[in-house]
Amino acid sequence: MEDVLARTENLENFSPGDFFKLGWETLDGKTAFFAPYFRGMVDDNWIMREALGPASHRMPFRDSRTGETREVLMLGSNNYLGLANEPSIVERTIEAVRAFGIGCGGPPLLNGTTTVHRALERKLAEMKKCEDAVVFASGYQANVGWTTGLLGQGDFLVYDAQNHASLFDGIKMGRFEAVPWEHNNVDELRRRLMHVRWKHPYTNVVVAVEGVYSMDGDVAPLPEVVALARKYGALVAVDDAHGTGVLGERGHGTPEHFGLEGDIDIVMGTFSKTFAVTGGFVAGKREMVDYLRFFARSYMFSANLPTPVAASVLAGIDFLGRHPERVRALHENVRSFVAGMRAAGFTVEAQTAIVPLFVPSHLRVRDLVGALFREGVFVNGVEFPAVPRDRQRLRISLMATFTKEDLDLAVAAFVKVGRQFGMLP
Ligand code: PMP
Repeated sequence: MEDVLARTENLENFSPGDFFKLGWETLDGKTAFFAPYFRGMVDDNWIMREALGPASHRMPFRDSRTGETREVLMLGSNNYLGLANEPSIVERTIEAVRAFGIGCGGPPLLNGTTTVHRALERKLAEMKKCEDAVVFASGYQANVGWTTGLLGQGDFLVYDAQNHASLFDGIKMGRFEAVPWEHNNVDELRRRLMHVRWKHPYTNVVVAVEGVYSMDGDVAPLPEVVALARKYGALVAVDDAHGTGVLGERGHGTPEHFGLEGDIDIVMGTFSKTFAVTGGFVAGKREMVDYLRFFARSYMFSANLPTPVAASVLAGIDFLGRHPERVRALHENVRSFVAGMRAAGFTVEAQTAIVPLFVPSHLRVRDLVGALFREGVFVNGVEFPAVPRDRQRLRISLMATFTKEDLDLAVAAFVKVGRQFGMLP
């Protein structure tokens, strides 16, 4: 602890990971200590940059340090298909406001369900080739909800260690046993499943993966995962937050990509990425979905999605059905950006819309993020303790709506900043 305190004299050397080690005894003490660190992050344009206009591939932001407005290329959004500002979707959302008002003011089991919510649930089930779906107010709540609602004492969740924080929070709140396996390592999954089955031949086991992992954009080896789960009598749960709208010819997600539609027992997704609003869902067998409506506390005890938001997701799914070329445009943009970055000398690789650019550990990611912002590129950085120090990176995400000119400008900005920081010769 003394070592940490000595270093905190220079707040630049401090990370939230250190903060948790401090063990402040009073609330005032710990919040006052954290305040300048937080302010510094905001002033560095590292977090909470304020947008001054609609979400798009180019958009205005306020520079927190200078107060100036900056026009930036948006390489830090999960609005992968550019639906946030799609006129036909905006129009249908406005129509829903006129028809239903702004919301219901209640949880789904009481007064919070409309025909729009039910239509959305049926549409999601159809898209994911499941019997039914239940909509949650957020993807976070969907993950906490299905894990704690479905799995009870003695049940097992065998999960990829790189799953999202919401699954980890479900694990913390739940009463079931949770066993991690090393990210995307199917041999380790096999060993874990053998072990659980050997000790507990009759218990319920669910294997949880993400279709597309949110930090590196890599894809789960779903065919192998499904085969192993079947062999060991386990169910499969896929969090397809970053796969929906991105993978599969029609953008229906990772199961479509692998030809496994209808073979996944628990399909979870969010509306906060491709559909660019908020909300989440779980799709599966009708009985399971109805069970969750009663036993997922994050569903039962939380107000339903505002009706216009449900309408915008419905409109988004319709749009996807009519415009599969958007999904192709996204992949074309990823290919072209990655090719441009490689030609410039960067080492990058991408399987989906997320392109991680690793930053050597002697550099501060936030300095790069700030410099890129000044060059007109908005990108998010991920640093320790969210990832190990030698895995710190810029998390670049691309959109279908970028033009060739946008992508050339983006690569030019990365080259300029990369040279400035010694990442390129
Ligand atoms: N799962 C994954 C893989 C995610 O990336 C996220 C959001 N970052 C969530 C779940 C939570 O979704 P939401 O933002 O809708 O709460």
